Amino acid sequence: MIKILDTTLREGEQTPGVYFDLHIKTAIAEMLDRIGVDIIEAGHPAVSVDIKNAIVQISSLGTKAKIGAHARSVKKDIDLALDCGVNFLGVFFCVADERLNHIDQNLHQAVDNISRIIAYAKEKKPGLKIRYTPEDTVRSKWENVISASAEAVRAGADIISVADTTGYMIPGTDRSFYTYIHRLRSELGKQNLFPLIAVHCHNDRGLALANALDSYRAGADIIDASVMGFGERAGIVDLASLLAVLHSDFDESSSWELDLLPDLYKCVSHYSGIPVPVHFPVTGKNAFTHCAGIHTQAALKNPIHYQSLSPGLFGRQTEITLDHMSGRATIAYALEKIGIQCPSNELIYSVLAKVKEVGRLGRTVDLDELKYIVRLLNPNQYPEFLL
Ligand SMILES: [Zn+2]
Repeated sequence: MIKILDTTLREGEQTPGVYFDLHIKTAIAEMLDRIGVDIIEAGHPAVSVDIKNAIVQISSLGTKAKIGAHARSVKKDIDLALDCGVNFLGVFFCVADERLNHIDQNLHQAVDNISRIIAYAKEKKPGLKIRYTPEDTVRSKWENVISASAEAVRAGADIISVADTTGYMIPGTDRSFYTYIHRLRSELGKQNLFPLIAVHCHNDRGLALANALDSYRAGADIIDASVMGFGERAGIVDLASLLAVLHSDFDESSSWELDLLPDLYKCVSHYSGIPVPVHFPVTGKNAFTHCAGIHTQAALKNPIHYQSLSPGLFGRQTEITLDHMSGRATIAYALEKIGIQCPSNELIYSVLAKVKEVGRLGRTVDLDELKYIVRLLNPNQYPEFLL
């Protein structure tokens, strides 16, 4: 069973201009826990006292989900994270030669540092789940990644995270997660090391979700995601899209409470000040709305004609919108929705003409506005639709 790590509160807060107050972070963590994610990455406590306090608060909630903190490979960060009461720790350190040169270290020193820090954290809190991330894993020299990962696991790391820090990977090519994960497992297996494998896919090429699914097919154990894919630059994998595909197409966790996703997205969107794009999968306003006349006519008979995900699964429903693309069937349906049973052709076509006129202004007509239109066209016949 795949595990989901949500990092809205850590990576997500690295979205420029996004800051969540303590009470908002707590609410988001509680919603994530109810939805059923396995790990909530709550922040990097060394960044600020606010963040540290939030992690302390979230760790005390008694969630089913593990609560994680991010830490550089330094003792001070480990101490701070453990002071917060977390039961999951993500330690990161680069292993690329160019990056190591930049900080005047060689691979031997880096690996020594990583394993000492991991052993220190494990000794301090034996039940702690530790993830080691070689930063920019996929563009780092293979031998360096293997050497650091193997020593990290020997020192006590439970999880190795393959980080596509720059959104570099492309499924189906020689830069695929599918191949990378198979090679990594095989190489570590030869050394009798069998850590869980996590993946952290950035979206710079718009391929984060595709790469996450490529990793899933290769047997990754943990996938990172965030609400709306919030994160550095183009962000990471969108949580709702990931859960939707894993549940609907790969039979993953029937215990996820996916109908709570809209509330979570509403909260994160509101307090981040970033609207959910209307065309966003699963959580966007238009995700289950049919517009074009031919589509709505078919969808009204059977939504499956133009839907492959069930809106009910996500607490949503199929909707029809009225605008310049509407057709006769859409208008007849909408009229019935506002209480006009078996509307006459005359009414349908006069309403359709007006709806198209409004649509050409770049607007849609909702059911309230539809009543106003009916009232205007037939003031005596529909007195109940008083303006
Ligand atoms: Zn990241």
